[in-house]
Amino acid sequence: MNKTYYGKLIFELSKSGRTGYSLPKVESKYQLSALKCQRQAALELPECDELTVVRHYTNMSNNNFGVDTGFYPLGSCTMKYNPKINEEAATMPTFTRLHPATPDHCAQGALHVYYETQRMLSEIAGMGEFTLNPYAGAHGELTGLMVIRTYHERRGDTARTKILVPDSAHGTNPASAAVCGCEIVQVKSLADGTVDVEDLKTHLGADIAGMMMTNPNTLGIFERQIPEIAKLVHECGGLMYYDGANLNPMLGVCRPGDMGFDVMHINLHKTFSTPHGGGGPGSGPVGVRKGLEQYLPNPRVVKNFEMIEDEEEYSYYSIECNDEALGSVSSFLSNYGIIVRAYVYLLSLGKENVPMAGKLSVLNANYIKEQLKAYYKLPIDGLCKHEFVFDGLKDEYAGHHDEPDHVVTLDVAKRLLDYGFHAPTIYFPLLFHEAMMIEPTETESKETLDDFIAVMVKIAEEAKADRQMLKTAPHSTPVRRLDDVRAVKDAIFKF
Ligand SMILES: *Cc1c(COP(=O)(O)O)cnc(C)c1O
Repeated sequence: MNKTYYGKLIFELSKSGRTGYSLPKVESKYQLSALKCQRQAALELPECDELTVVRHYTNMSNNNFGVDTGFYPLGSCTMKYNPKINEEAATMPTFTRLHPATPDHCAQGALHVYYETQRMLSEIAGMGEFTLNPYAGAHGELTGLMVIRTYHERRGDTARTKILVPDSAHGTNPASAAVCGCEIVQVKSLADGTVDVEDLKTHLGADIAGMMMTNPNTLGIFERQIPEIAKLVHECGGLMYYDGANLNPMLGVCRPGDMGFDVMHINLHKTFSTPHGGGGPGSGPVGVRKGLEQYLPNPRVVKNFEMIEDEEEYSYYSIECNDEALGSVSSFLSNYGIIVRAYVYLLSLGKENVPMAGKLSVLNANYIKEQLKAYYKLPIDGLCKHEFVFDGLKDEYAGHHDEPDHVVTLDVAKRLLDYGFHAPTIYFPLLFHEAMMIEPTETESKETLDDFIAVMVKIAEEAKADRQMLKTAPHSTPVRRLDDVRAVKDAIFKF
């Protein structure tokens, strides 16, 4: 790390009178008319030469960890490689310079991309129709639940106010249901991590609007009882909602629509290779089975199959056209650039290779799990899908949990940073005390997986030999171990 630049603000690198550019002097015959609006004192800006600016920002970007710098096995987040061809297409001026209010006939290409993405997602998920409007996964959940609410309301059934959510669910599920004004009913999990159908039966009734499920669930386990669960929920009049944020392992292998789900969302910024982390931008398209299309939010892009002369092929179908819909959830066509990325990703992968992505993500997760289960506690053994959960190091390495300095999951996660790996998701899901959720994705090579496995084994051995060293890790990062709680609750944003 370069000492001249490291940890400095651009203001500290400033030298009075230095500039990074020069403009010719212009003698203007025009006077600024509103002189009183003119700034009285010079603006305090950093004064730096161009090279200092370049080094400052390049050094700062190097302090960040990303998929492009190293292995990022953050469970539930699908940190796969984001092909650069996506970026090239998304930054084409024909897309970036398009005004959202451009008339349909001048934006046929952009509408084509949008429409085709709706179709491809519908086919992959086995759904009737998709809206690409929601801005993120959680926003998709809210939109999907609003579809469910609108469906019940339009039938005059206003007593359905409860949403069933398994206790293993991602935190956004109960949160979205609450924002939608629903009451949340928690469904228990069995020891193998799947939904307890007997517990589910006790909650069913005329007040159930629907059930939210994630499959594979947050433990990476495939919910085998889905057909039975869907039948039970449908029989009591509810709809089935599928949290498809983690669709990756299912890609081209099986489809939520075929399993009995009615409404779902997909995270384009996970499964469909858009850079994410740090809060966005994202895209959380919502799909519905045939018969529910009319409740999707406005606007939508529709294709005019019977082309009349002089009429455009694709049109922007908005509020005036569809008052059955639940309203609008975003401005215009939402995060359009993300949709272009997903479209290019799918086209460049090709329909015949989509299943390969799903299968490889499962193979990679199982490869890591099998090689590390001698060192880390595996509470749910057997085949996993794209990710799996360890419950911390085995006692023979970590020490017994009665010992005050026994090694915990946080210590392993921090030590991984010293070896140049991002940590897995830790302390989630809440079903285990020392959860460590590992998702390698399909884009990692066998060499990377082997390196990661070797490091995880090495950390287990370090835990046995030198606990204190693990307790104080990381040792080689720009900042050492932070107080996690204070870093969030008492963050200092000023210099
Ligand atoms: C990531 C994720 C979400 C939320 O998606 P955001 O885009 O972060 O809002 C919801 N459910 C599951 C299972 C997820 O992994």
